[in-house]
Amino acid sequence: MVGGLTLQHVYRARERLGALVERTPLVESPELSKVAGGDVHLKLENQQLTGSFKVRGALNAVLALNDEERRRGVVTVSTGNHGRGVAFACRRAGVRVVVCMSRLVPANKLQAIEDLGAEVRIVGRGQDEAQLEAERLVAEEGLVLLPPFDHGEVIAGQGTIALEIVERLPPVAQVLVPLSGGGLVSGVALALKSINPAIRVVGVGMAEGCAMYRSLEAGKPVDVEEPESLADSLGGGIGLDNRYTFALVRELVDEVVLVEEEQVARAIVHAYRHERQIVEGAGAVGIAALLYQQEALSRRRDGPSVVLVSGANIDMELHRRLISDGEQGPTTGGGE
Ligand SMILES: *Cc1c(COP(=O)(O)O)cnc(C)c1O
Repeated sequence: MVGGLTLQHVYRARERLGALVERTPLVESPELSKVAGGDVHLKLENQQLTGSFKVRGALNAVLALNDEERRRGVVTVSTGNHGRGVAFACRRAGVRVVVCMSRLVPANKLQAIEDLGAEVRIVGRGQDEAQLEAERLVAEEGLVLLPPFDHGEVIAGQGTIALEIVERLPPVAQVLVPLSGGGLVSGVALALKSINPAIRVVGVGMAEGCAMYRSLEAGKPVDVEEPESLADSLGGGIGLDNRYTFALVRELVDEVVLVEEEQVARAIVHAYRHERQIVEGAGAVGIAALLYQQEALSRRRDGPSVVLVSGANIDMELHRRLISDGEQGPTTGGGE
């Protein structure tokens, strides 16, 4: 298997995680089923501890550290869901954690990470400077760097979502997965394709700034410019020295579909109105694909589709504005 990762890594991750994370609901969506003309279910990782699936990979990676690494402690660079997942994981495991971030990080995110007992280092005005600080801590203090997606145990942890899906819904035919660095879709595809290669795995990224999509086109990892987006958790590149996710996505993911900013806004509104779910932009891209990219998805109708809803951590004032803007105009696509 690609990068030496196998289904066994995913099963081992599930044993480690045990009852420390939520087995999130898989619910049918009558509204999306109508639009898609087939059975659609939602895997609700927006209801996961810390508000996103990232805690699965983070906790698996922290629990996989040996005693000596645990004593040294962990460092990570993240402004959002990964940082929160790692902070949560380290508190559970009793491991020191430093989260490096830039001055641009919003106060509420910083607070959520500090509340979990992490040390926070605020450095510079961008992710690059925070990355340099993390590398300094690795070199000078011996901390273990825990990257957000390009890491075997992180990928295996995210793959545990796929096990839950096939166990609850054995006939599943297609799974739509939000895509940025590709840790989530790599883990999910690794598990699904090992269990049943006929299950279609579709990555969903933003039309602008999807580094994985551009890298697949280029045949090697490339950097892209990213505009500001509602899907802020999909920000960032895949790393020019990518070790796992580029190869895994190229090998295992059937297709990458891109969605537009406006479609994500409407998908957030759809999730709230029709599914009663609070979903952040990155978490809503699969719903946006089902609502607005039917032609790209219509190839397989011989079984249920699952949309992975990856996170809930949206600024609630922004959410309120999107919902009230949504009242002014049509917000669902497809049949309306
Ligand atoms: C990180 C994240 C993603 C993307 O995951 P990758 O492993 O980087 O592809 C999607 N949704 C949410 C909510 C996230 O936090």
